[in-house]
Amino acid sequence: MGQVSKNARTSSTTQKFFCSCGGEVKMKTLFENGKFKNLAECEKCKRTERRPSDFK
Ligand SMILES: [Zn+2]
Repeated sequence: MGQVSKNARTSSTTQKFFCSCGGEVKMKTLFENGKFKNLAECEKCKRTERRPSDFK
């Protein structure tokens, strides 16, 4: 029997997100109030969200 263990990749680290304006969403790291914060920002319209999936 062959291997059946290779499932579809559910979590890819190189996943791309796109804003509703069509721009690509890039992750940014901000240093704020003594801690690092991850922000997702659209390259095109400069909209920022806390996570890339919020751009839908
Ligand atoms: Zn945008």
